[in-house]
Amino acid sequence: MNSLRLDRIRLTHVRVPLVEPFAISHAAIGEKDAILVEVFAEGLVGLGEASPMAGTFYSAQTPESSWSVLTENLVPLMQRAQELDLAGRWLAGATDDSFACCGVDGSLWDLVARARNRPLWSLLGGNGQREIPSGLAVGIHGTIEELLDRIERFVAAHGYRRVKIKVKPGWDVGPLEAVRRRFGDVPLMVDANCAYGRQDIEPIVSWDRFGLMMIEQPLAREDLEGHALLAARCHTPICLDESAETVEAVERAVALNAAQVVNIKLQRVGTLWAARRIHDMTAEAGIGCWMGTMPELGVGACAAMHFATLPNIVYPTDVEASERWFVAEVTTPPVRCVDGLLVLPPGPGLGVSLNAEVVRRYRVREEIIQVSCRLRPVLPPGIGSE
Ligand code: MG
Repeated sequence: MNSLRLDRIRLTHVRVPLVEPFAISHAAIGEKDAILVEVFAEGLVGLGEASPMAGTFYSAQTPESSWSVLTENLVPLMQRAQELDLAGRWLAGATDDSFACCGVDGSLWDLVARARNRPLWSLLGGNGQREIPSGLAVGIHGTIEELLDRIERFVAAHGYRRVKIKVKPGWDVGPLEAVRRRFGDVPLMVDANCAYGRQDIEPIVSWDRFGLMMIEQPLAREDLEGHALLAARCHTPICLDESAETVEAVERAVALNAAQVVNIKLQRVGTLWAARRIHDMTAEAGIGCWMGTMPELGVGACAAMHFATLPNIVYPTDVEASERWFVAEVTTPPVRCVDGLLVLPPGPGLGVSLNAEVVRRYRVREEIIQVSCRLRPVLPPGIGSE
């Protein structure tokens, strides 16, 4: 297949209200920001999403800083580049903003998949027939009763395949005891978003009594050695999220035996190829993975769903039905979850298009930029099938 000639890019910053505020160990949000990336070429459009969280909810990158990186750095780089590729080599060293990279990289993969008239999963080496179980993630609430109420309500609505609760010092054992009392042996896990330190290793080891699927990111992002100490003491599998930020970081984690599970977030690792390399490396090491989310709007969520059909994605994903999070979804169709399984939209590429009316309603700003470069439609070495 010949290379594709790109002619323009449209960036749209949208801000969609959440159905209710979401709180984790150190912050809370009430709206979801994202930058939608549309790349136009030869009558086709590829969709991507750069999805940093507002403020310092998750990382130093914000919607405003990612907007600047896209408009002042990455798009000019595309304008100068002779030829882009799906391995993201042209992005190497351009920025440390993985969200901005993910937006552009995702749009190029979607474009190539559409040009080939193939679903994204088939380019990635996935299997579109695989089930994609969805797990409920519940934030920190004011009272345990509120927490139990949310779990009951959401599980009844969508039939999730596991429940994840956010924990922090002072909000861990009490909620866990209450969830076990109310919901019996529901598949359950916790996510601490780095809220604990090495001094907490013994109390965390004592959570073995709750029979959790895994404990996600208990210690600091950079403390792989601490996670290795904990993993050696704990029967419950340790999962890395924030620490698993690059291929190299996961390589180090594997070498240190720092985790038995890895949460792959496309927004954090920045390119689908990096995500695929992490997938392959962990498979080789006997470490199972699952697809995490920020959460993203429908474009980013859909990319994670396609990736979730790869063989070493063996735990339920955090991707949930659009209506659970957002008052409206920017894609048609929205993300649907039936009896705890996500519905992968059929058709080439991601299988979704933008809902222009919703995008217009929640648009913060938009920019259309002309580009003139070519995209090599070949897959990176060792990935997918031709
Ligand atoms: Mg997490």
